[in-house]
Amino acid sequence: MYQKLLEEIYAEIQPEIGKGKVADYIPALKNADPKQFGISVCNINQEVTSLGDAQQRFSIQSISKVFTLTMAFQVLGDKLWERVGKEPSGNPFNSLIQLERENGIPRNPFINAGALVITDILISLLDNPKQDLLSFLKELCNCSNIHFDPVIAQSEKEHGFTNAALVNYMKSHGNIKNDVEEVLDLYFHQCSILMNCEQLAKSFLFLANHGVIPHSNQRVLTRSQAKRLNAIMLSCGLYDQAGDFAYLVGLPGKSGVAGGISAIMPEQMSITVWSPALNRHGNSHAGMKALELFTTKTGISIF
Ligand code: GLU
Repeated sequence: MYQKLLEEIYAEIQPEIGKGKVADYIPALKNADPKQFGISVCNINQEVTSLGDAQQRFSIQSISKVFTLTMAFQVLGDKLWERVGKEPSGNPFNSLIQLERENGIPRNPFINAGALVITDILISLLDNPKQDLLSFLKELCNCSNIHFDPVIAQSEKEHGFTNAALVNYMKSHGNIKNDVEEVLDLYFHQCSILMNCEQLAKSFLFLANHGVIPHSNQRVLTRSQAKRLNAIMLSCGLYDQAGDFAYLVGLPGKSGVAGGISAIMPEQMSITVWSPALNRHGNSHAGMKALELFTTKTGISIF
């Protein structure tokens, strides 16, 4: 359906692919080929159009924060906001400074501190959070091959000193209820989940469909919760570049440091792009450009 348009975008962004820097603070990510680029658009009828490396799997990293937030929000509803805020942080995703000023209550669930609180909540709520998370993703994308990458999870564990600092700091304020090692282990595993653009585009479709998974008709979030989760993606989903993303792309979205960005247009579609080289905010450089071109050329925007 969007084949011609994607080809046009792909041709136009060629000079941008590879610009920026692959994340190297997690050693297992640093060997990614910066020249890779994939894009998938999935419309509300589940028709997928893809181009480039859309079948290549990569670690979803912070995009996982949307799925864990959904699982916690589903159960706790607005009670969730007692432990994490919903304001943009205006700070880097792993910043410690704000957390100290705000007494261990993270600004939002999409910065690392906030995601760690959500992870802690899932450990309290679920008997087997790792398996439940994978099962949830399999259901969302209607596919069975979703796994953790043990090498990436281990690499994050060995170098995750800032995340360890964040979780310990929140524990000292009583905002982490479980063992810090257990929280970090689940967090590093959720970041290591391997998916491709097509799988992610399908998985985000429930957020474009008022909280209902289109292929199974199963409700994941209430209509109001889906609206609210999209609002948080719009204001907080791209680290300290969320304002730019709203301005240039005009859709709610979430990025990850392996170079993936997933975005949705309510009642119409979900789009995932992936290209590993990041801009200085930690978002895929070519991915941002491709989404900007997509919404500019189609005129699609929530505004
Ligand atoms: N695993 C990464 C970290 O915690 C995720 C960061 C991201 O994608 O924003 O540093």
